[in-house]
Amino acid sequence: MLTPIVTTTDEVRAVVGAVRRQGRTVGFVPTMGALHAGHAALVRAARRTSGFAVVSVFVNPTQFGPKEDFAKYPRTLEADQKVCTEAGADLIFAPSVEEMYPERSVAVVEVKGLDEVLDGASRPGHFRGVCTVVLKLFNIVRPDVAHFGAKDYQQARIITQMVRDLNVPVEVRVEPTVREPDGLAMSSRNRYLSPTERASAPGIYQALRNVRDRARAGEIDAARLESALAAELAAIPGARVDYARVVDADTLRPIARLDRPAVAAVAVFLGATRLIDNVSFGG
Ligand code: AMP
Repeated sequence: MLTPIVTTTDEVRAVVGAVRRQGRTVGFVPTMGALHAGHAALVRAARRTSGFAVVSVFVNPTQFGPKEDFAKYPRTLEADQKVCTEAGADLIFAPSVEEMYPERSVAVVEVKGLDEVLDGASRPGHFRGVCTVVLKLFNIVRPDVAHFGAKDYQQARIITQMVRDLNVPVEVRVEPTVREPDGLAMSSRNRYLSPTERASAPGIYQALRNVRDRARAGEIDAARLESALAAELAAIPGARVDYARVVDADTLRPIARLDRPAVAAVAVFLGATRLIDNVSFGG
């Protein structure tokens, strides 16, 4: 049987309420659909952790900038339902924009500071949209545990902060990035890549791995690591580097030396497609 799809808040609350009354815990994986093996891994993690796994599929308009790809973002609900079924999801919540944002919705959630750097600097308002929709989804689904991917490092960091600061009764877990065999981080946006761009794309993770190797070999100067990273990314055929940073894993702010947990985070355009990826350095 395919994982059932519901589209309204009332329906998801009715199903999840019944599950809770049976004493089962609820895991949750928020997504924008166009699901791939990275999403499936989150669903399996939810299924392992909780008795009931809910996946939301919602292309959230408020997290896209006016010049971004909201209109052309892939919408593949039938295929998504198959991925969810195979991964063991129990329920899909696929609301309309009107269901999520009735007229005159004005409340928003902001996680200040953390949302001003990296992707937040390149995509003003993006994380306000993400936080607002994720808090709404948490309030609709009321999960015990929510699973996010490490590929979106800043997003996971910001959601963790939001949950802590606003006392949201959800446990946030961050799952490892799932990659293609050649190292490219799986992303719904990879399908936009031309064959030439796709051939270049693994260079992003290669550059990140090289910077991690430099750090392991003893380089601790963050500026030197950053410039090596930026230079390698810039050398990828067809690539335009949006940012390449080595930052404090907690504050996301620049660091001088690798003397604490840190992350190398990058955003790279290949043609019109913007890809992000990151690697963590130990503490
Ligand atoms: P989205 O791709 O924006 O729909 O992301 C939905 C969730 O899937 C987020 O928590 C992402 O971090 C996560 N995700 C996306 N791609 C991957 C991947 N390659 N590996 C692990 N998690 C991922």
